[in-house]
Amino acid sequence: AKVAGRSQIRFFTPSMTRDLTHRRKIETELRLALSRHELSVYFQPIVDLDTGRIRCFEALARWFHPTRGEIPPDQFIPVAEECGAIVTLGNWLTGEATRAAATWPDDMSVAVNLSPMQIKAPGAALGILSAIRDAGLSPDRLELEITENVFLEDSPSIAMFIEDLARAGVRFALDDFGTGYSSLSYINQWPFSKIKVDRSFVSGAQAGRKSDAIIRAVSQMGRTLGIEIVAEGLETTEQVKAVRFAGCTLGQGYHFSRAIPAYQASLLLAEDRSS
Ligand code: C2E
Ligand code: CA
Ligand code: CA
Ligand code: CA
Repeated sequence: AKVAGRSQIRFFTPSMTRDLTHRRKIETELRLALSRHELSVYFQPIVDLDTGRIRCFEALARWFHPTRGEIPPDQFIPVAEECGAIVTLGNWLTGEATRAAATWPDDMSVAVNLSPMQIKAPGAALGILSAIRDAGLSPDRLELEITENVFLEDSPSIAMFIEDLARAGVRFALDDFGTGYSSLSYINQWPFSKIKVDRSFVSGAQAGRKSDAIIRAVSQMGRTLGIEIVAEGLETTEQVKAVRFAGCTLGQGYHFSRAIPAYQASLLLAEDRSS
């Protein structure tokens, strides 16, 4: 590893220096982008695998740079996390997402991704509660997606964040399950209503016996505990069939739809409701 821990940089290579310069540049441009409204929120449906109906939309950040074109979240989210801009970005995105959700039918929820830094920011829980209130959205229609790495440090502010919001009725989903330090103690300790099984297991679901067995086991556990299991990254009919057969109740992926702008999400919903 080039970097040992967050602040402890062992050595620099020319390529790393370039990389850091590159990151600095993204950081500066990201701050500008926020003020210039180059960012938007797209929504990807999460579908009930039994009925085929949309149950939820995941809000995903999109950056359309005037000269560089679209910059993928995998490039700018980590930089935003490092420099702290994720807090501003996240507050803005939560506002957009909850306002959009407030225009949808009452049984439709919205999922927002939160990184550890956003959770640890002072007043994080209050910020989310006021976003919900300002949007006029019922708290149980907001779902916060967090990954296992949130729990790597045993921080009281993270515990308080989850407890306060869960008490208010906000829901939590465990994202990218199976990619990190997957521990059943997280599931035991925190009130998750969904577990999202990472795409890497799904793409193996038809061919790989091991992935299939893991999805089956997680689904069985979900049924027992009353936690819904979402299969991420469904691209083909075969994958949909396989994960459904393995016991997943919800699915998300290009097979159903890519992430789309809010107005298209509303159109998709209207279509979904009329069929
Ligand atoms: P994620 O939370 O796991 O989000 C799902 C990612 O998988 C999205 O990528 C989505 O477009 C992509 N995806 C969905 N279905 C398929 C499929 O069938 N095939 C394939 N190959 N990919 C699929 P996206 O939007 O590029 O986001 C990447 C990651 O960036 C997200 O992973 C999330 O970790 C992060 N991210 C995006 N927006 C935000 C945000 O607003 N806040 C935070 N903290 N993180 C975000
Ligand atoms: Ca997610
Ligand atoms: Ca995920
Ligand atoms: Ca991810």
